[in-house]
Amino acid sequence: MTSPPKPIELYDTWAREVRPFTPIEEGRVGLYCCGPTVYDYAHIGNLRTYVFEDLLRRTLEMAGYAVRHVMNITDVGHLTSDADTGEDKMEKGAARTGLTAWEIAERYTAAFREDLAALNILEPHVWCRATDHIEEQIADIAEIERQGYTYITSDGVYFDTAKLADYGYLARLDVAGLDAGSRVELGEKRNPTDFALWKFSPADTRRQMEWDSPWGRGFPGWHIECSAMSVKYLGPLFDIHCGGKDHIPVHHSNEIAQCEVAHGTRLANYWLHGYFLETGQEKMSKSAGEFLRLQTLLDRDIDPLAYRYLCLTAHYRSDLRFSWESLDAAVVALGRLRQAVHGAPAGGEVDAASLDQFQAELLNDLNSPKAIAVTWNLVRSDLDPADRRATLLAMDEVLGLDLANWTPVETTVPAEIEELLAARNAARAARDWGRADALRDQIHAAGFDIEDGPEGSRLKPR
Ligand code: AMP
Ligand code: ZN
Repeated sequence: MTSPPKPIELYDTWAREVRPFTPIEEGRVGLYCCGPTVYDYAHIGNLRTYVFEDLLRRTLEMAGYAVRHVMNITDVGHLTSDADTGEDKMEKGAARTGLTAWEIAERYTAAFREDLAALNILEPHVWCRATDHIEEQIADIAEIERQGYTYITSDGVYFDTAKLADYGYLARLDVAGLDAGSRVELGEKRNPTDFALWKFSPADTRRQMEWDSPWGRGFPGWHIECSAMSVKYLGPLFDIHCGGKDHIPVHHSNEIAQCEVAHGTRLANYWLHGYFLETGQEKMSKSAGEFLRLQTLLDRDIDPLAYRYLCLTAHYRSDLRFSWESLDAAVVALGRLRQAVHGAPAGGEVDAASLDQFQAELLNDLNSPKAIAVTWNLVRSDLDPADRRATLLAMDEVLGLDLANWTPVETTVPAEIEELLAARNAARAARDWGRADALRDQIHAAGFDIEDGPEGSRLKPR
């Protein structure tokens, strides 16, 4: 008989508290994560959210749950403003690149999956594209209409949020206050929080992505895709729904509203939200044009896994201020962890006390900074190196830094630098410190650091 999963506590945005996690079905977790809008590359801020979700999944698996992880691909319907105005991001991306909206979706979905792989993020068990689920979305909209929660304007079918008593509870939205103080241009919308379920194609232009529906030719609103697809793959009430914190007031509030009307549930029992990566000066927004993406790090020879490490040093419920200095520090830290694994012999035993402590931190609402502190205590401990290695590798099942598979890059040191090192060693042996220092500076200027250790001096590229 397998033992029951370990207890885990998670912060549920719905309840606004850390509470014990109880699955709907024993030993199993249904997990839905809002995926990318594939009109451009992901920025590293987006990727922080996926690292957090990967940490959640790996922690649940470590605790002993069988996780079913579903992620959507938004390839239609996400307008440049979350308030259902502006252009469709996909059609805008098509205009920017000269490709079709379908080609854009292909290209950036593939790029996104490469980013996930580079960050050692586990692939969801189910990928689902909005454009492959138009029928399901139309069925949901029809049900919401049948229940009397919709109205039609000249540009689409809208959800009447005033009809749902607890609309916006997830975000603790002050709907009455919003109504009274609203300076938003309402247009034909009845309430500021109303949102589009279906948008009509403009009469005079043909969209690249459009479908027939009972209400006319057009395309689904952004929020309906997630409720339709999560229900299809996980059922009308599943365990955990995730996204970035920006999804709380609009996207997730609307997903819940749709599901309450169509299925009588609030979609998920736990709502978890990752806080933002902030870059200060540099605008962290894809629609702003210039943004940092994983390739930007690769161009600077920075291993994406160092970025993963950086993400793990902050709790998922606090914003993380990005700086190149903190990323450099992450590169060094990751290097030390790799060294601790590869500089030690295999065949050791896991130190249960360290691993328990590490797991306890994660089981307490994914406290990765504290878990990493436990990891460093282990690295600095006087435990047998083989046991330390085995324990570190066990921790890495959750950290996901892929420590086991790292291979040191073989760098060849030019013969003349080796000669300089030999000359420096001779100068040191002769206690000619002035000459030894001058040679060290020469080696340094040529791009190498000297590491002096008990087994002698080694050269390391800077
Ligand atoms: P999008 O591709 O725009 O739909 O966003 C993908 C995911 O990234 C969503 O879960 C967002 O909440 C999240 N996100 C957007 N900006 C940031 C940021 N600066 N830091 C962390 N997550 C973000
Ligand atoms: Zn979503």
